[in-house]
Amino acid sequence: MDAIKSDSGGAAREVDVVVVGAGFAGLYLLHELRRLGFSSVALEAADDVGGTWYWNRYPGARCDIESIDYSYSWDPDLQREWQWSERYATQPEILRYLGHVADKHDLRRDIRFSTRVTGARWDAAAQRWSVRTDHGDEVRCRFYVMATGCLSVPKTPDVPGHERFRGASYYTGRWPKEGVDFTGKRVAVIGTGSSGVQSIPIIAQQAKELTVFQRTPNYSRPAKNGPVPKAKKALFDADPAGYRAAARLTGAGVPVEKPELRAFQVSEAERRARYEEAYQSGDLLVFGAAYTDILFNDAANESVCEFLRDKIRALVKDPDTAEMLTPRDHFYGTKRPCIDTNYFETFNLPHVRLVDLRREPIRTVTETGIDTSARSFEFDAIVYATGFDAMTGAIVAVDVAGRDGLSLKQKWDHGPRTYLGVMTTGFPNFFTMTGPGSPSVLSNMAVSIEQHVDWVRDCLVHMRAEHLDVVEPTPTAEDAWVQHVNDCADITLLPRANSWYMGANVPGKPRVFLPYIGGVERYRKICDDVVARGYLGFAFAGGSGRRCNDGVVRRLQPDAEIFLEMLTELGAPRIETLSVADARAFAAASGAAQPPGPAVGEVRDGQLAGAAGPLAYRLYRPATPGPHGVVAYFHGGGWVLGDPQSDDPFCRYLCVKADAIVVSVNYRHAPEARFPAAADDAFAAVRWIADHAAELGAAPGRLAVCGWSAGGNVAAVACQLARDAGGPPIAGQVLVTPVTDCDLSRPSYAQNGEGYFLTTDLMRWFWDHYADPADRTSPKASPLRAPSLAGLPPALVVTCEFDPLRDEGSAYAVALAKAGVAARERQGRGMIHNSVPGVDVMLSAVGLRAELASALRAFLGAATPHATAARRDPASAAHA
Ligand code: FAD
Ligand code: NAP
Repeated sequence: MDAIKSDSGGAAREVDVVVVGAGFAGLYLLHELRRLGFSSVALEAADDVGGTWYWNRYPGARCDIESIDYSYSWDPDLQREWQWSERYATQPEILRYLGHVADKHDLRRDIRFSTRVTGARWDAAAQRWSVRTDHGDEVRCRFYVMATGCLSVPKTPDVPGHERFRGASYYTGRWPKEGVDFTGKRVAVIGTGSSGVQSIPIIAQQAKELTVFQRTPNYSRPAKNGPVPKAKKALFDADPAGYRAAARLTGAGVPVEKPELRAFQVSEAERRARYEEAYQSGDLLVFGAAYTDILFNDAANESVCEFLRDKIRALVKDPDTAEMLTPRDHFYGTKRPCIDTNYFETFNLPHVRLVDLRREPIRTVTETGIDTSARSFEFDAIVYATGFDAMTGAIVAVDVAGRDGLSLKQKWDHGPRTYLGVMTTGFPNFFTMTGPGSPSVLSNMAVSIEQHVDWVRDCLVHMRAEHLDVVEPTPTAEDAWVQHVNDCADITLLPRANSWYMGANVPGKPRVFLPYIGGVERYRKICDDVVARGYLGFAFAGGSGRRCNDGVVRRLQPDAEIFLEMLTELGAPRIETLSVADARAFAAASGAAQPPGPAVGEVRDGQLAGAAGPLAYRLYRPATPGPHGVVAYFHGGGWVLGDPQSDDPFCRYLCVKADAIVVSVNYRHAPEARFPAAADDAFAAVRWIADHAAELGAAPGRLAVCGWSAGGNVAAVACQLARDAGGPPIAGQVLVTPVTDCDLSRPSYAQNGEGYFLTTDLMRWFWDHYADPADRTSPKASPLRAPSLAGLPPALVVTCEFDPLRDEGSAYAVALAKAGVAARERQGRGMIHNSVPGVDVMLSAVGLRAELASALRAFLGAATPHATAARRDPASAAHA
């Protein structure tokens, strides 16, 4: 690509790249483009560089990611030269830093300040963007990059009457350059997010009276600011490059210790000690990383919330004020938490008062103050710390028109849609820095910004090398990315809060989780993966023709991916290479590490009559008043492994959610008891449970079966045997990723036979231990092969997309339906063989689990006379 010369005013009429914004992102991008010979210009609304740190000059503004981390890594000299004066640098210091970078690299000469971009239109014929500014001129470019910031458009004030106020109104995100002196003034601050939390203590030092209007109290704790911690500085100075490299391979872009335990795997005392240490650290990120499940599990998160609530109560003297300041309506980290300097203590000062807008909402701002539903206040100044139209605000504020005049604002009407947060279909050669769908605001943004700049830079270099003119993501790739972003968010607690991450702070904004919560490291790997796979999901056009490498970079559910990574990290053995004893020991150890599952009314162990002697069972009884139906449950483990303990959390779950007694049967295992022992035991157990329903405290006649994997196999077989034997009546069967056939040649074995936990080799190992080849085709081993499936109980067959058993499960559901059985299949998108029983681990399966529990509940609602129907079916003689 040829560089096109700028005109003399520094304003290029036509350049390779237009960059909008001269904050952290724009400055680095400009540097890289110039270094690589792309002509470029940055258009910046402000009259200087700095972005966030130009606009947010409110008292107390500073970063809350430590400055050592929240700084550029791309200039090794800068890293050595620049010494931060504080752990968390103030806004003026960060602004000086960015100004220094601009000077050092002479970046200002390519920036047009005081220039707002108002529109941009893709000219398909010329393959150029025309970028319009508020000066009425246009700049044409091949690539148009919005480095416009995630938090750069202050929210339009949505406080009624705000325009009436005759005193001074200030916005934290647009603070006057000359500063504000509040001495002797009666000041109101509306908003208690990070900007409010930082500014309130400083404003209180000046003001005669300060009144804080709070809608939602926030989790905050002392920042423990001071000089840069010596240990951290020593670590950084010893190996800056190594330190930065480590930061890139973390969840949030800051080196913090990765948790390994769940919150309730340790004692309460140990947990509190961990939280105390986190509290004293003054580090924003450590609470979220205290245990693996803090952002995923209600109870784990609540333990953090309670700890922090105690701290607030201890800091604030007046109990009523303390209660008002105590967050109760959202989990920790689901709205961005804060770190502060004397925030809560400020409310102990006699001239500071708090107004809880939940108790007395603002009725209107008046000429002289604020009226709530209960009182009138008079002020000299009102400070709006009411936040931003985050992530999308600055992008859609520009009238961007892509291919065929497609309006970006319209395309994103129901929420932003991007591929990797960096491009969006329909808008060729248009990039967003830290756009929606990228880690951005959930990370140390310096790290995320650099990664995006590097990726876009490399993409442009690639295009130049390959003589490509136009790049655009494919709809398939974009749809899948949007799905993946949502999948990642949905397994966390974050979408539950009314946060700006969800767009919930801006009236009328669609409720969509905006950033990518999969983490910086994972995201970086995905972006690298996209490139390594030949720019997967992108279509290019140029002199060498059109190349479209359509595809999806991540299909797996994020929890399945994490689980599989964990297995690799732990060096988990391939079970099929172990002896049976070692395999059982390994399975038992893995089972012991599971979260316990929900509490039930009663758990007791007993014995029932199996086909060849007594079998152990474990009974789970709901805490609700009976009579309950009963579920005969069969655990997974390939007929070789597993026991009631291994599936204990899942049985508890079924007990609670299906509101049923669950009897988990420890049927005989191979190789000690080979085929048909497990199948015969399953049927014997079903019969015994039906016969002893009253003794078990269950309602007679309300019996269903359920099983996972090999347990699904014996559950299916038990239904067939019951049909053929004329009873007992079974109201329904829920088969979770069941083995239904011994044929390992179905496509799902080829597609998912390696790398998704249950492998083809392991399935072979299971079969070899369980049944001789000649026996495997028996319907008692391969229930799909029964001559007729008519007359079987209604069925829900759950299959998972990334499971070798997927296709035989689907085949069974289809065959059941064909035979007239009320059967349906539900497939877990992106899930693996163990997703569904993974209670409190595989959170992506929450919906599917709930669905199968409600299927059981429905089956047990009334006894159904299937056995009777079956008796009339001549084909049911198959198993006789
Ligand atoms: P910005 O710094 O927002 O720069 C975007 C620029 O684009 C702005 O200068 C804006 O004027 C310009 N612009 C936008 N639209 C147009 C247009 N149409 N035409 C022309 N110019 C336009 N992140 C952290 O990781 N750690 C922190 O501690 C931290 N502290 C923060 C504190 C505050 C008060 C705020 C508001 C945010 C903080 N952030 C923090 C997030 C912060 O926004 C990013 O870290 C980073 O500064 C963003 O840089 P950027 O270049 O992407 O965007
Ligand atoms: P914010 O987190 O969105 O907080 C805005 C506050 O104003 C909230 O308390 C909100 O209440 C309240 N509010 C909004 N509209 C209101 C209305 N109409 N009436 C009454 N109250 C209203 O915005 P922010 O504090 O500017 O912070 C935004 C983000 O910028 C932060 O989350 C952070 O990422 C970044 N930031 C970082 C720092 C730092 O420490 N480094 C400092 C400032 C900002 P509700 O919660 O009820 O909506």
